[in-house]
Amino acid sequence: MPVKNRFAELLPEITEWRRDIHENPELLFDVHRTAAKVAGLLRDFGCDEVVEGVGRTGVVGVIKGKTDSSGRVIGLRADMDALPIKEQTGLPYASKVPGKMHACGHDGHTSMLLGAAKYLAETRNFDGTAVVIFQPAEEGGGGGREMCQDGMMDRWGIQEVYGMHNMPGIPVGHFAIRPGAMMASADQFDITVTGKGGHAAKPHDCVDTTVVAAHIIVAMQTIASRNVDPMKQVVVSICTVETDSTAHNVIPQVVKLKGTVRTMDPGVQDFVERRVGEIAEGTALALGAKAEVNYVRGYPVTMNTPENTDYAAEVAKAVSGHVDTDTAPLMGAEDFSFMLLERPGAYIFVGNGDTAMVHHPAYNFDDDVIPFGSSWYAGMVETRMPAA
Ligand SMILES: [Zn+2]
Ligand SMILES: [Zn+2]
Repeated sequence: MPVKNRFAELLPEITEWRRDIHENPELLFDVHRTAAKVAGLLRDFGCDEVVEGVGRTGVVGVIKGKTDSSGRVIGLRADMDALPIKEQTGLPYASKVPGKMHACGHDGHTSMLLGAAKYLAETRNFDGTAVVIFQPAEEGGGGGREMCQDGMMDRWGIQEVYGMHNMPGIPVGHFAIRPGAMMASADQFDITVTGKGGHAAKPHDCVDTTVVAAHIIVAMQTIASRNVDPMKQVVVSICTVETDSTAHNVIPQVVKLKGTVRTMDPGVQDFVERRVGEIAEGTALALGAKAEVNYVRGYPVTMNTPENTDYAAEVAKAVSGHVDTDTAPLMGAEDFSFMLLERPGAYIFVGNGDTAMVHHPAYNFDDDVIPFGSSWYAGMVETRMPAA
């Protein structure tokens, strides 16, 4: 099963959808135009069911195979949202919306899954049901979580689920995947340190919040260096320090710290959450101040199920012949993780070649990736639910 010939024929059409979506980027859950286009095309293809408004603005399409003796249901997922970036590609189909850009290639993901849906609806050469999932708000809004909370997995009886993301630096036509943790968890925290402000010339009459905050920042470094097993990955970064004074001679009453935590292991994530609280509150207490911590869980670890990782890699190998099955995990986070919490499945990278990195204003999705991506999506369905 190399790249399917049908996708070579469909390439101009899929490219046209991709460039149209690229010209009209939308953010987070506000993907109304894109979702309407997706739903309209799915209906044109003759999908058995098309439902809009899943998880606010997500779209789900159902394609039944010629037979259903297997009773199996496979979910395939793409994301639809863009980023608040000013595009600098100078391409003829560059963004027409100031300050918004498809700089993560979700226009490519959506179009490749649309291509697979068109092919699957016209061939139906499988035994079971394919569910195509188009999610909003991957870039920080938790659209995948919203679709899951909307009951998507049970409503369509999805048994396993697969996602794909393009990756600059991996050659076009190559895939990369790994079992277990593929992308990190991403949490954020706010620490409010309250002391006793006052005249900078009279520190003995104050509780100096800036000194307390500095101790907290330094002590926080011991989570990675002294607390977590060095064989396990963790990042704790404090990125914002804000005081309630801008003067040279005032000890501030309050200092606010903001930071992020990345891990590759749910156990480490729980542990770090606890240590952030203990260190901030304990350090403040020791120095006579008070620290309040607000720790907010973001995206979980994107955890590929080993068995499904093998299925995904086999199909990728059949499509392109080039699969790295032990790619390094990334410290970025991915909203598809919520779907993988509910069902077994896998998330794979498809090479985007030598382009600017995702989230860069000069990034561009390479349309030559389309036949590989669409073939992989369709191949997952035909391989996991072979025609009876
Ligand atoms: Zn992104
Ligand atoms: Zn992305």
